[in-house]
Amino acid sequence: MMKWEENIRKAVPYVAGEQPNKPNMIKLNTNECPYPPAPGVESAAKTLDYEALRLYPNADVTPLVEALAEYYHVKPSQVFVGVGSDDVLSMAFMTFFNGSKPILFPDVTYSFYDVWADLYRIPYETCPLDENWHIRPQDYKRQNGGVIFPNPNAPTGLLESLDTVEEIVRANQDVVVIVDEAYIDFGGESALSLLKKYENLLVVQTFSKSRAMAGLRIGFCIGNEKLVHYLSDVKFSFNSYTMNLPSQVLGVEAVKDDAYFKETTHKIQSTRERIKKELSELGFTFPDSKANFLFASHRSIPAKEIFKALREADIYVRYWDKPRINNSLRITVGTDEQMDCLIDFLRKYIENK
Ligand code: PMP
Repeated sequence: MMKWEENIRKAVPYVAGEQPNKPNMIKLNTNECPYPPAPGVESAAKTLDYEALRLYPNADVTPLVEALAEYYHVKPSQVFVGVGSDDVLSMAFMTFFNGSKPILFPDVTYSFYDVWADLYRIPYETCPLDENWHIRPQDYKRQNGGVIFPNPNAPTGLLESLDTVEEIVRANQDVVVIVDEAYIDFGGESALSLLKKYENLLVVQTFSKSRAMAGLRIGFCIGNEKLVHYLSDVKFSFNSYTMNLPSQVLGVEAVKDDAYFKETTHKIQSTRERIKKELSELGFTFPDSKANFLFASHRSIPAKEIFKALREADIYVRYWDKPRINNSLRITVGTDEQMDCLIDFLRKYIENK
């Protein structure tokens, strides 16, 4: 290592799922929505004020913050938006996890958490999920500098009950507890209802999955006004104009169309339930996902082999060669047609094994 390299911040980055662009591929690897955004988003995109791109966007993202506040029945001062929930989470790590005690999160979870913790030099400890992949609330009842977990968890898709979430929040009122609800709209019960009771709770959500807008990068969190204030101070100490104008305008359109939102999230849930049955018949097992993906293992064929075979057929799913999860595939729930192709491929592949 050269002398000048000593003062450099070294980071081991998060590895996002690949984004191949092949004409006939079936892309089930990054939990995107298989349906387009709400129709109002398309019309607003076509009539975007091109001239306005000359100007900086609204730094406070006021129309989108107000639309979210109205939708979720909270005050605008309780809402913070960011460039995807990754941006919101990253800012939240920097703001709220600033103590010397370790923060806690599950051992099998969103693999960005340890990346941010390392980047910001936040000490952390992981709490093992139980043998059925569930969070054990008792693990979170010890000294810590903060708590974060996704609900439903990723990559397992397992939802914890609101009682379990509350048990963890209640036991940790001296620190901030972040519930990452990236996948809550596919059948889960949000912790937003707990905000009235707990001022240490921050609920993070995203437009990338249930609102079909991963490409626009919109995430947000809702919490106590004080938490949001602290978060905004850090964000504005970092970069003022993060969310671009098109995302601000189109985000509002997505929030307006609740009927479309409900229709697409219900469609994904019914496809998911059908696919659970078909995958079981083919010898797969998986936790009972309440997200827009399944975390499946086959009873006899190693996940890595299936992953490679699928990839050669241009069917992309996610696989991690990591302890505890290296025999599972995370399969995003696509359209019914996409899932039929997946099932057909798997049926033939398994028959010929
Ligand atoms: N949280 C979890 C649990 C996720 O799986 C993801 C998607 N990678 C995110 C947050 C971030 O999503 P986005 O930045 O697109 O909102």
